[in-house]
Amino acid sequence: MSDPARRRLPPVHAVLDWPGLAGMIASEGRGATVRAVRTTIDRAREALAGGRDHPVDVETLGRLAEASLIGERPRLRPVINATGILLNTGLGRAPLAAEAAEAVDRVVRGYCNLEFDLESGERGRRTDGVESLLVSLTGAEAAAVVNNNAAATVLAVKALAAGREVIVSRGQLVEIGGSFRLPEIIESSGARLVEVGTTNKTRLDDYARAIGPETAALLRVHPSNYRVVGFAESVGIAELARLGAERDLWTIDDIGSGALAPGLPPRVRGEPTAAEGLAAGADLVLFSGDKLLGGPQCGILVGSREAIEPVRRDPLMRAFRVDKMTLAALEATLRLALDPARAGSRLPLWAFLDARPADLLGRAARLAGTFRSEFGLDASAVESAAYLGGGSAPLDPIPSAAVRVGPPFPASSPSEGAWARSLRLGEPAVVVRVQGGAVLFDLRAVFEAEDARLVEAVRRTARGDAARL
Ligand SMILES: *Cc1c(COP(=O)(O)O)cnc(C)c1O
Repeated sequence: MSDPARRRLPPVHAVLDWPGLAGMIASEGRGATVRAVRTTIDRAREALAGGRDHPVDVETLGRLAEASLIGERPRLRPVINATGILLNTGLGRAPLAAEAAEAVDRVVRGYCNLEFDLESGERGRRTDGVESLLVSLTGAEAAAVVNNNAAATVLAVKALAAGREVIVSRGQLVEIGGSFRLPEIIESSGARLVEVGTTNKTRLDDYARAIGPETAALLRVHPSNYRVVGFAESVGIAELARLGAERDLWTIDDIGSGALAPGLPPRVRGEPTAAEGLAAGADLVLFSGDKLLGGPQCGILVGSREAIEPVRRDPLMRAFRVDKMTLAALEATLRLALDPARAGSRLPLWAFLDARPADLLGRAARLAGTFRSEFGLDASAVESAAYLGGGSAPLDPIPSAAVRVGPPFPASSPSEGAWARSLRLGEPAVVVRVQGGAVLFDLRAVFEAEDARLVEAVRRTARGDAARL
């Protein structure tokens, strides 16, 4: 202990008392935090003993200990979504119903009859069960399920139009987050894209004139996260399907977010539904399982037997097939959807859509009261606007409520950005909206049962304040 640099290292308790570590002590436990601090100090001592430079101040050592604790957590962790975006791809899109999670749990811990018919004792098809549910829910003749809607689009275009032409309106050549770009999707499926109309206006006649001997399909794509408003015109699926039928072409309808039918889920207006696309005459309707359906990530194709059969036989089907966990969750989700009254409360996304703004405001007022009285924060309940997200209904705000917290923020994270970061690094992580110098906890996508955990999350970040007082 003769080296002066070594003597300058603070003791473990001094680093533990750094207010920034209060949240870690609360979430990871005192024992784990003490171990992390000890290891951090040991490393610093070794560095200094080896003649290397190393910071010795309490704050830097505290931050290093915090980083090592965070590094030990599983990469994929639960998050409380206080952003007000219901289908946030960054946050895993739709939360699953308890029934869906239980269905996964039931089949993954042992073997299951994934591709085995228990009655005949012979090989079965893995998607039989979900396909018959999809048929009942949408009125389709047949259905198929793949990994996501991007795969469904590639497969549909490949199976029905490879080597030939697919006609798409210029107003629908969109990019939908996560690098889903329609022209590239069509190209990768081996079909040739024929663009018609203009960005803002495409008429039926534009499609009709583009049809030639090489044409195989007409494709409508729901622009999802993008809208052409004002001087605009597009062709409805019924008109398009009528033209397709007259000219003996496939009509494919990529509706994206995938409401099943009007009212499923409740309170969603202006989004195309699978049942309506089929009733209008589309041969195939494509949508995601983890958007408005509120189920697991997958791509769903519903349509006529004639259109689904080539999709099923395509070799790419094997590459895009879904696993048993997805199928278990999807089957449970679809069973709930068969009973809309029950689904409205059991499917989290549907329940979030259905929540009354007055009830959300009541919860926000109670939380704001707790934030004020227990943590001395400048918190109030405010009306806010939530959004579906995930590329759905970009222009339709959903009336919501939030807890708004203005400065001063807790001393250990004095700016709104720093406080938002502390909340993200807690356990569970809380993701908030930062807006106009304030932090907003929007409650539209927060389970009521999570309100108490929100209070705990704020308590952890505010604990440093108490230590300082
Ligand atoms: C979201 C979306 C897709 C992509 O679906 P994934 O399930 O994310 O692959 C494709 N088309 C439309 C119209 C969409 O909205």
